[in-house]
Amino acid sequence: MSNLCPPVCKMCRREGVKLFLKGEKCFTKCILEKRPSLPGAPARGKSKRKTTDYGLRLREKQKLKRMIGINEAQMRRYYSEAQRQTGSTGENMLKLLDVRLDSVMRHLGLATSPRFARQLVGHGHVFINGRRVTLPSYHVRPGDVVQVNPKMKENFFLQLSEQGFERRGSVTPGWINWNKAERKAEILRLPEKGETHFPVNDQYIVEFYTRR
Ligand code: SF4
Repeated sequence: MSNLCPPVCKMCRREGVKLFLKGEKCFTKCILEKRPSLPGAPARGKSKRKTTDYGLRLREKQKLKRMIGINEAQMRRYYSEAQRQTGSTGENMLKLLDVRLDSVMRHLGLATSPRFARQLVGHGHVFINGRRVTLPSYHVRPGDVVQVNPKMKENFFLQLSEQGFERRGSVTPGWINWNKAERKAEILRLPEKGETHFPVNDQYIVEFYTRR
């Protein structure tokens, strides 16, 4: 999580969009809404965002990387893997990121920040087909059954995330069958085009890597 060291809100101010890195606070006390300027802007007189074509593509790539909380080497690996697959590289990349186990935790409303999603998995609270998996980057596959340790039933942070998810009217994507009572999810299929939930221009990200 080296690239998610506090203050995370600076990353949102840098990108000019909400990246939802702080959990429930992002929905109640978002700093970006109060201070939409660039970090350090008043002191350096950089309140306006001017950018080049390259800068535009770089920012889009950074946005995606920060939304998930992975480093540059991991991003490059995802790009290379997406390139090897058939179809659009940009879409393939977003799909690969969407089926990471930590992303699935967020789809289910069990975590509202990338940091908490990674902790949930990393601390061994998630089982796949009955076996404990502690790798946040694990890619779920159709037929996989994902379950949260029943001992976590009363966990305050899980309940807080679930309540927030419900309050906002968020829904689990159609490729996952979620049994909320048992906190058990079945992966029905892989996400299709347009079903990934990262609000980025994937074409810019592909162009960023191909031009380098
Ligand atoms: Fe970003 Fe959340 Fe901080 Fe708002 S509160 S700036 S969305 S990390």
